[in-house]
Amino acid sequence: MSKKDESVRGLSFVKRVYPARTLGLGLGGVAVGTVLLAQDFPVFYWLLLLVNGLVWPHLAYVIACRSAIPFQAERRHLLLDSGSGGFWVVAMGFNPLVSTLILMMLWMNNIAAGGLRLFLKGLATTGIGLLVGLAAFGWHPDLTTGDWVVYASLPMLVAYPVAIGLITYNLAIQLHQQKELLKRLSRTDGLTGLYNRYYWESRTTESIAVARRNNQPMALILLDIDHFKAINDTYGHVAGDQVLKQVAQLLRMNLREGELLGRYGGEEFALLLPNTTQDAAYATAERLRLLVGQALYEIDERVSGLRCSISVGVAAFREGQGYSEWFRAADAALYQAKHIGRNTTVVFDSTLQDVLVLHKHPGDQRATSPV
Ligand code: GH3
Ligand code: MG
Ligand code: MG
Repeated sequence: MSKKDESVRGLSFVKRVYPARTLGLGLGGVAVGTVLLAQDFPVFYWLLLLVNGLVWPHLAYVIACRSAIPFQAERRHLLLDSGSGGFWVVAMGFNPLVSTLILMMLWMNNIAAGGLRLFLKGLATTGIGLLVGLAAFGWHPDLTTGDWVVYASLPMLVAYPVAIGLITYNLAIQLHQQKELLKRLSRTDGLTGLYNRYYWESRTTESIAVARRNNQPMALILLDIDHFKAINDTYGHVAGDQVLKQVAQLLRMNLREGELLGRYGGEEFALLLPNTTQDAAYATAERLRLLVGQALYEIDERVSGLRCSISVGVAAFREGQGYSEWFRAADAALYQAKHIGRNTTVVFDSTLQDVLVLHKHPGDQRATSPV
């Protein structure tokens, strides 16, 4: 993880802890203060409790945010919290209700932030806090709990678990959103927004199984931009990217339900047509070829109205075929389309087992023969 990533992760952690600490130490301070009321405490310790409960959460936030590694600073602060908890437990004469309540809260924070390791470290700093407390106040256990102490503990007893539940829920939602984002990113091609080759292939392989089971026809179309290198060479790579994006967008806008379009390679797209015969696939291929060929592509203020064409290979799925063989058939048809002059559609005929050149113009598309 880079330093910047670490800092961002640390800051979001600090921001999560901040409201929980403000609430926990604030309400915890009220409960501790109620126990201390019954005892004759020097003003200094009241001030200390006030600082710990009301000032420290904000101070800890500022210090952690400004620290070079906020995550580590915040973990140190959590350990400090556990230490001060031990101190106040002794100050209260080990009042069972409030002691349990504040230690439970502090240790829970440690587990949530750093698992068993931080929990054990927290136990150790609580031990240190107990020793400091014993040095300051001596051993004066008082295990009675008055009504007011019970009432003063109630807000914390209710509010803290609710706050933790809310934080956990928000975290779960965030995690889910990040998972969805990651899933989308792993499926799509960054430039065109189309499915990438890996995802397109895995979906296509699944479709073969479905088509076989339902005994349905299926077709594959490969589309490759003609002389794309020349666009790059003439107008630059950025212009090439613009054309690629616009061609992809055009193809996507003209998809029909169930059709699966992916960016197969650099300037090559693949389209799966479920429940489609060879003739219907040819018609689709021609429609797309004409659409791409007739469109004008915009680059910038200087270059606009650019044209480009595509060559298209079509192959219908043949029973008993595997994905690779099917793909090779479409690729052979595409190769032939390039060979005979580009801006054309060639079909790999499943019965003839050969490429079949249908003419460029839909009007005379039947006047063809195997090449
Ligand atoms: P043909 O008609 O035979 O397909 O010729 P072509 O120039 O389109 O094909 P060729 O395979 O010779 O070159 C493809 C070019 O596409 C080369 C490569 O630099 C370019 N290319 C691949 N991916 C990208 C991309 O993401 N952006 C840009 N701008 N160019 C790309
Ligand atoms: Mg090309
Ligand atoms: Mg190519």
